[in-house]
Amino acid sequence: MASDEPEPFPDICDFCGRRIGARGRLALVPDSSAIHARDPGKDGQRLIIVCSPEHLASLEEEYRRRPFVAEELWAGKISRALQGHPEDLLTPETLSAATGLSQEEIDRAVIWKMERIRRWYEQHGDDSAGDADPGPGF
Ligand SMILES: [Zn+2]
Repeated sequence: MASDEPEPFPDICDFCGRRIGARGRLALVPDSSAIHARDPGKDGQRLIIVCSPEHLASLEEEYRRRPFVAEELWAGKISRALQGHPEDLLTPETLSAATGLSQEEIDRAVIWKMERIRRWYEQHGDDSAGDADPGPGF
């Protein structure tokens, strides 16, 4: 079919959901929840795709207002390392080597994650347990 033109961005806008056309834009924005599948150097950056320069500006502004939480980034690095080979990473030293994080960073990430879990249970409840505080768990 000669009428088929290659689409520059065969995707939809991360801001409005419309199909990406000729005015499409790609950009990297800071995002502490973004963990790259393999490359730690790309952690903390999210690739966004938008339909227009206007929506690029709008989405960049949204990400600028989102707090960049170092502990969230570190927790993501730990999760990725544990997914790779959990049986090898049970000591603080091996986890530190696998993530490139200091012991203090790992501790802060774990505390941050525990706090998120605690808040989740506060918001969503746990009807099966009568305990007010499930404890640290490890
Ligand atoms: Zn758009």
